[in-house]
Amino acid sequence: MRIDLHTHSTASDGTDSPAELVRKAAAAGLDVVALTDHDTTRGHAEAVAAVPRGLTLVTGAELSCRIDGISMHMLAYLFDAGEPALLAERELVRDDRVPRAKGMIAKLNALGVPVTWEQVERIAGNGSVGRPHLATALVELGVVPSVDGAFTKDWLADGGRAHMDKHETDPFEAIRLVKAAGGVTVFAHPGAGKRGRTVPEAAIGELAAAGLDGIEVDHMDHDPGTRTRLRGLAGELGLLVTGSSDYHGSRKTCVLGEHTTDPEVYGEIVRRATGASPVTGA
Ligand code: AMP
Ligand code: FE
Ligand code: FE
Ligand code: ZN
Repeated sequence: MRIDLHTHSTASDGTDSPAELVRKAAAAGLDVVALTDHDTTRGHAEAVAAVPRGLTLVTGAELSCRIDGISMHMLAYLFDAGEPALLAERELVRDDRVPRAKGMIAKLNALGVPVTWEQVERIAGNGSVGRPHLATALVELGVVPSVDGAFTKDWLADGGRAHMDKHETDPFEAIRLVKAAGGVTVFAHPGAGKRGRTVPEAAIGELAAAGLDGIEVDHMDHDPGTRTRLRGLAGELGLLVTGSSDYHGSRKTCVLGEHTTDPEVYGEIVRRATGASPVTGA
């Protein structure tokens, strides 16, 4: 069984539509794929309708959170997408991305970059708008050579010249909301230092005590030492360990199934979830 529990579609900052994503997941030989767009479940219906025979789709989202001033991402799986409190929080975070993107555009304009909201809106389509869309605009304008090149202190990296914070959920609140909606939580890429400051181990312990289900260990942004350390921490705290590609289509270099999750861990996630069931293509 090959299980990839973290991917993005055009519903956020990926480049494949939800239907293309599930088709490519099957073609890549995956048995299970999770769709985890940033702060939205908008891609679920299209993905569910397109799941090919033999592939199982896990519906989810990647929630933008912040703890002690440090941004972090919380993967949430198999929650009830219609549960009002979690839905309201997702909408708050997603909607705040628009004025924040406009604020970053104003900062870029002040730095002499002629990017416009119309350009970014065209790139984002109806996806949850984020820095990768602005990064694509900077590539189009010839300001940087690649999306990755826009995530520097000169441009869009945390604390960079054109960066702005967005509304982000307290992760303890996120855990509470996801649980109340019948879902399961996994702290995404907790050791991804190149993205900015990481959450201290003591705080991960507090999140575990508050009901966090697992941590993502096998991820492209974790070096071997970080993976070993995180695996040990998960063992100490009784957390599930996952591995995933964090696939974004052509916006990142990773490929579907680049990292995978143990079938037993996947089984445990499904057992714990009460908000939704995985969908297998017929
Ligand atoms: P946002 O949610 O708008 O703050 O943008 C964060 C997203 O940018 C992440 O989910 C990644 O998809 C992407 N990202 C963060 N750091 C990098 C990086 N160094 N290179 C490329 N993409 C990145
Ligand atoms: Fe992303
Ligand atoms: Fe993430
Ligand atoms: Zn992601």
